[in-house]
Amino acid sequence: MSSIIFRCLLLFAFTALTAIKAEADGPDSQSTLYMIGMENLIPDARPWFIGDNYALVLKDDISPGVVHKAVLPEQPGDYYIMHVRSPDDLKPIEDRVPYFMIGDNAIFRTDPEGASILPKYGWGLTKLGPLPEYQKIAPVPVPPVIAEYDPDIADMISEITPQSCESRLTDITAFPTRYSYSAFCRDAEEYVYNLFNSYGLTTSYFDFNWNGTDMRNVVGQLTGTTRPDSVIIICGHLDCFSEDAYNNAPGAEDNGSGTVSVLEAARILSQRQTDLTIRFITFSGEEQGLIGSDYYAQHMVDIGEDIGAVINLDMVAYRGPYPSDMHFYSDPQSHWLGELATVTMDDYTAVDTISHYENSPQWGSDHYSFAIRGYPAVFLIDAEPWVGEDWHPYYHTTDDIMDHLDMDLQADVARTGTALAAVLARVDFGAQEIPIISEWGMLILALLLLAFGTIAVISRGRRVLRKTN
Ligand SMILES: [Zn+2]
Repeated sequence: MSSIIFRCLLLFAFTALTAIKAEADGPDSQSTLYMIGMENLIPDARPWFIGDNYALVLKDDISPGVVHKAVLPEQPGDYYIMHVRSPDDLKPIEDRVPYFMIGDNAIFRTDPEGASILPKYGWGLTKLGPLPEYQKIAPVPVPPVIAEYDPDIADMISEITPQSCESRLTDITAFPTRYSYSAFCRDAEEYVYNLFNSYGLTTSYFDFNWNGTDMRNVVGQLTGTTRPDSVIIICGHLDCFSEDAYNNAPGAEDNGSGTVSVLEAARILSQRQTDLTIRFITFSGEEQGLIGSDYYAQHMVDIGEDIGAVINLDMVAYRGPYPSDMHFYSDPQSHWLGELATVTMDDYTAVDTISHYENSPQWGSDHYSFAIRGYPAVFLIDAEPWVGEDWHPYYHTTDDIMDHLDMDLQADVARTGTALAAVLARVDFGAQEIPIISEWGMLILALLLLAFGTIAVISRGRRVLRKTN
């Protein structure tokens, strides 16, 4: 057989196989995860978690002969990760929800009902999903974003004050609880919906059902004037948790503070025009494993939404013993965004900032749901998750009240989020896109090469025939 035809067929087979494999490894996959050494991670693998020297992967991503260990093989359900202070804390539930410890984190494999009991026993519950392949590739180049001080933006965000934030946070924490399984959370969702509506935003609920309860993300949209199909998201979760979650969960820091930042950004930006569309979103079901954002981000993938950047704010108004540090987390495709967010806070506020440029998305909050699906996303938080004296001491307790928070810091974070969204809503994200041949493109190319190959063989055969004649 002519080598060109052979190559075409190979290319064809490879394209078809890649398409099938991509489907099998989708985000709903319930297959067993295995732990392998980082040195054995193949370049096109889609790991579900990357640790210091190990990765969790599906069987398909393990090369023959590589040592691997199953993570909770016999358990049906989704995989979750959660930070625990000591494995002893999990003793009361280990029969119901078995776990696998990796450092200070527990990995679970359970159903939504099993997951519902977990927040009481640890921190940052996150439903895991496959990371994009890019995690093994160099960081994405910086898009043309101008991070210069703009007096117009400074002027605009000066409308956000500690008083305006305090008044909004008073409303948010006035609900007895915003636990996702409680009807009071539906009331809080309605409060946000009405507020977005009063600002003239195109407002909607994004409904989902989790473990038998109807929950709602609230979406307020400011439609862009010149590139409306390109979307910037600024978000935070509205729901919260405590040891008495059904009756008393004020959730001032976690996450009234992020919610207020989103609502203040909506109040200010809704009175302006922006090139790109900005979506203000409050998520529910975050404390159950980032469920609301998981559904929403997957929907964005399904409808092919063009999302330029996601700004997630979660726990942003507690001033610990260290002076006013804010932390910015980003993964390789989002390092440019992490840098832009940090510079924005430096430009417009006096708060000290720390950037964390990670090699995979920080788990534990809603930006994760977007980042694992390939959308650039930055996470703003006032402490390093779970560690140190800066970490909010009243996290997930009935004592997470406004009195422990600093409204100056709250206002500075809300200003930063608003300024960042305004800057991003000017960016032409399409301008630097590198053309990539899609799978359909590969198929068409393969067929074209096959056709040319056939023609070449036939004409060569004819020439040979002519010569013999
Ligand atoms: Zn939170």
